[in-house]
Amino acid sequence: TAKSEERNALRFYTPKMHADARRRLQLAADLRQALVRNEFHLVYQPSVELRTGRIVAVEALIRWKHPDRGNVTPDEFIPIAESLGLIRLIDRWVLETACAQVCRWDEAHLPPIRIAVNVSAGSLGHPDFVAGISAVLTSTGLPAKRLLLEITESAILHLGEDTQRTMLALHGLGIGVAIDDFGTGYSSLAYLKLPSVKFLKIDRSFITGLPNSSNDAAITEAMVAIARSLDLNTIAEGIETEGQHEFLLRAGCAEGQGFLYSRPLPTEEIERLLAPNAKQPAKKLTLVPPKR
Ligand code: C2E
Ligand code: MG
Ligand code: MG
Ligand code: MG
Repeated sequence: TAKSEERNALRFYTPKMHADARRRLQLAADLRQALVRNEFHLVYQPSVELRTGRIVAVEALIRWKHPDRGNVTPDEFIPIAESLGLIRLIDRWVLETACAQVCRWDEAHLPPIRIAVNVSAGSLGHPDFVAGISAVLTSTGLPAKRLLLEITESAILHLGEDTQRTMLALHGLGIGVAIDDFGTGYSSLAYLKLPSVKFLKIDRSFITGLPNSSNDAAITEAMVAIARSLDLNTIAEGIETEGQHEFLLRAGCAEGQGFLYSRPLPTEEIERLLAPNAKQPAKKLTLVPPKR
């Protein structure tokens, strides 16, 4: 009955849960102020061509430096921002900041790279989403083909019947989309044929077990094969070991990101990596600056 369920619910409401709920409430209150107080910044993680180590793109990743609590991870505050309806403002800030940054790198004559920006369900579903992106491209002057939007399967599912229209509009603008965390959500291979989808990002959870886990190996190879037959590019996420790198290279995966190559870095460090004669830290796989 409802009564006994309620009792059970209370019984399972532990002090830890109480503390977690208080933290969420506090973060929610502070999140409303974070944008105007300039508490967000971006870091950028290089994406490399696996065969050569050449940097072909960077992914913008948001960071929140909370005045009292220090760094709060996006995995914690993005869902809160979603539930408060703040995600549109945050995603818009990220898009503007990242696009403007890439344009500054262009102006400094660093080689042109692609910029990937994550988009939440709450942003994607808004009627003005495409117009907002178009406005940012116009104001920054970044060519549409240099922008890649990373969208998860669940965000696409959330779009429902607007999916085709939104994706067609992005396609019309020349903006590419990557399916982020592929294989973890409500995976539908139908997403891979949507207009403007150009990349499939294999989720880190499949990469972790490589090369030894035969399941992860089979799934990864299958994903690469599907992507190839649909003329999509694959990016593997979360590559940490040379064994993973070797496996993915042999499987025919073109691109990868992960701590093996580089952690997400602040602007100045990315600039150093992009510079034509960049001195690389001693590493097994040397990062190569992008093509001019
Ligand atoms: P994501 O888009 O799938 O980003 C990949 C996450 O994996 C990042 O975590 C990155 O730092 C981490 N990562 C990269 N390489 C490795 C590796 O080799 N090993 C391990 N263990 N982790 C690696 P981060 O920055 O904490 O972001 C987490 C998630 O938060 C992102 O997942 C994305 O869904 C969301 N997010 C981050 N920035 C933004 C943003 O600006 N807007 C929105 N809407 N979401 C964002
Ligand atoms: Mg991403
Ligand atoms: Mg991902
Ligand atoms: Mg993720």
